[in-house]
Amino acid sequence: MTILQKITIAILLMTLLQIELMAKTENYLRKTRLIENSLSLKFKYPVKKVHHFTIKTKGVIKHIYDIKNSSLPKTTNISKFKYNGVKTFRIAQYSKKVIRVVIETTTPMKGNFKITGRKVIISLGKKSQKSKSKKRSHKKNSHNKSRYKKSSNKKSSNKRRYKTIILDAGHGGRDIGASSKYVREKDLTLSMTLKLKRILQRMGYTVLLTRSRDKFMNLKQRTDYAYYSNASLFVSIHANAEPKRKTPGVKYEGMEVFYLGLANSNRIGKHRVHYRGKAVYTRRAYHKMLSPWKFRESKKLAYCVHRNILSHVRKRYSLNDKGIKRQDFWVLLATKIPSILVETGYLTHKNEGIKLRNVTYQTRLMEGVAKGINQYYGL
Ligand SMILES: [Zn+2]
Repeated sequence: MTILQKITIAILLMTLLQIELMAKTENYLRKTRLIENSLSLKFKYPVKKVHHFTIKTKGVIKHIYDIKNSSLPKTTNISKFKYNGVKTFRIAQYSKKVIRVVIETTTPMKGNFKITGRKVIISLGKKSQKSKSKKRSHKKNSHNKSRYKKSSNKKSSNKRRYKTIILDAGHGGRDIGASSKYVREKDLTLSMTLKLKRILQRMGYTVLLTRSRDKFMNLKQRTDYAYYSNASLFVSIHANAEPKRKTPGVKYEGMEVFYLGLANSNRIGKHRVHYRGKAVYTRRAYHKMLSPWKFRESKKLAYCVHRNILSHVRKRYSLNDKGIKRQDFWVLLATKIPSILVETGYLTHKNEGIKLRNVTYQTRLMEGVAKGINQYYGL
């Protein structure tokens, strides 16, 4: 081989590697579904921006949605979808980083859409019998509202709508976390996180989950999701187990709340954070992850949540307080928003283990967390 040939091969390999690296970070469209009266598009990462406009020509209305920073897998097609009033559904990679969805209708359609985390939901309007169904949905709404007033302060819940909380159920899939004869941590954390999600949503918050089923996710995937979402708080839920070699005098029972501390951390490089020994994220991200604001707010959040878990749970149950601690857990480090990790208790402890498996106790704990979040926001 000549030197020139060697160089060409090297360049080729480098471009291939680059393409692969890019593919890993691209926000691919994962799933398309037609549900009730809307078209739902689910992406790998949260969607930031969609531009919508309409074009009218010869009795046909084209609703166009440009989804920014997204990639379309070659096999994805939405032309098979059928909906009353819609002539065609089309989707294409419009430019390098924009997916374009075109919905052609013959009758007027509002074309509203919303972005909720990884999903873009395009409303296709009511199917038929316009006035009737409209009335019904209106009734439903007012009914909901009146119920709402009773359960919660309306002003607060309105403000909460604009707060997005990302919940992280620890472990999952092949990573079972801690375990005892009776229970695995990954199942407990998922069960509690789903409860917390419902509680927060009922209070009015917007909630995102790193996982909503028994699925393996590495730590970087969790924080990538959090980093690229527009969430304002990150809460990770875990359960503990006593170690094989016990330290004399330590009580392996009770709840503790962690926020970021960097003492003796080997996750920190020069202006970069290290994940499994490699520098990941940018310098800019690094500064966001270690901003004094994030430390201050995480501390405040940790104190609010810790205090409220104790007071709320202790109304019904005994609960040992293991306090507030600082640690360089990856999920606390690699986020740019206030972040805490709640160790809900020791699943290996005889009494606490039984309590943790009890759904009423789980709800109590999570209500405590939610109250803490309210207090943090002053809502
Ligand atoms: Zn854990």
